[in-house]
Amino acid sequence: MPSPRRLLIHGGQVIDPSGGISGLFDVVVEDGRISALVEPDQAPSGIYRIEADGMVVTPGFVDLHTHLRFPGFPEKETIASGTRAAAAGGFTTVCAMANTRPVVDTVEILRVIEAEVRRSAAVRVRQLAAVTMGLAGEHLTDMPALVAAGAVAFSDDGKPVGDVDIMESALRASAELGAVISVHEERAGSAGAANPGPARQLGLAAWPCTWEAEMVARDVGLLERTGGRLHIAHVSCAETVQIIRMAKQRGLPVTAEATPHHLRLDDSLLLGTAILPPGSPQTKVNPPLRDRSDVEALVAGLADGTIDAVATDHAPHAAPDKEGSFAQAAFGFTGLETALPVLLDLVRAGSLSLPALVERLTEGPARVFGLDAGTLRPGAPADVTIFDPEARWTVAPEILESRGKNSPLLGHEMRGRVSCTLVGGQVVHVAGV
Ligand SMILES: [Zn+2]
Repeated sequence: MPSPRRLLIHGGQVIDPSGGISGLFDVVVEDGRISALVEPDQAPSGIYRIEADGMVVTPGFVDLHTHLRFPGFPEKETIASGTRAAAAGGFTTVCAMANTRPVVDTVEILRVIEAEVRRSAAVRVRQLAAVTMGLAGEHLTDMPALVAAGAVAFSDDGKPVGDVDIMESALRASAELGAVISVHEERAGSAGAANPGPARQLGLAAWPCTWEAEMVARDVGLLERTGGRLHIAHVSCAETVQIIRMAKQRGLPVTAEATPHHLRLDDSLLLGTAILPPGSPQTKVNPPLRDRSDVEALVAGLADGTIDAVATDHAPHAAPDKEGSFAQAAFGFTGLETALPVLLDLVRAGSLSLPALVERLTEGPARVFGLDAGTLRPGAPADVTIFDPEARWTVAPEILESRGKNSPLLGHEMRGRVSCTLVGGQVVHVAGV
């Protein structure tokens, strides 16, 4: 793919919430950085052009929550395949979770990942480190050393930090280091499978919203006492949105993310659709899909800024992990390649504006982890996403770049597609190529 020293993205509708920009502009890229946004008739001539007529041009999307499965699970995903999926979905920075094998709990493992990222990543990868050694919840990792080595934040994602004293110590360290703790909130030691409604109908173990809300309330309480920087991963319940909203009103340093699937799909999916049978393992995710009132509360929280960012929780699995019974199947959906069209449905429904959605995919997440990303301001790295909001396509295993084909959206028609993605001025994805 072409990567000239100078290029022009011509004729698109540019939306850059970081600069309050929404309108027809040409984007000039020079030496891997944004050089200028100019009126279309003032664009310099004679340089390489990417035609963006009818397209929306935004800063590259930033994902705070991606499972790249490296090291340890090449049958599910690799850094090469996961970052190709990111590029195809318009994500130019992904923050990779630490629940790998081995767990990312030492500087040595961070170095191994860095080397693989240099070798094979299509987009920028930032790595989270674990809060506790081996995600066992007993001993904190060497957080100062991990921050010094480049860990972007800390998380035991996949599990809650059950022990109050450990969580308090982690927040104290977070306060000293200025590092963010991203928490996966569920009742420690619990074993639910689905939201109580469908769980009852399908004979599955129930996983109620209280299990999430009680942990968020605990951690907001700890935060108030100790300081630090708390980030709530994949919020799924109305109660949780309300706890976070009140905490923010009190000025506490808490942020939150929600996934495209929790913002768009509800637990009725578990009872079957035209495509999926009742109790399909393709509908099993952690936290579980919730009911319509939770979905609406999440969307309202995204619109009013209680939820700072959309994060995919892209969780690829190999086919056998999702076969068999619902109870035995692995949790998780892939999400990088379907996030944009799923979220554009919210804009089309009038639930939030397109600039607000773009903010929650760019500047919002960049601010949560303090990343130099999510903006088209002159001088910034030229990480750019160009998408056609109307293009229709159908989700099918053979067109997904991710090794994981575990999406409840397989067979569904999507509206909206990334046509071109640039990282540092280099074209890393073109639709259909
Ligand atoms: Zn999680």
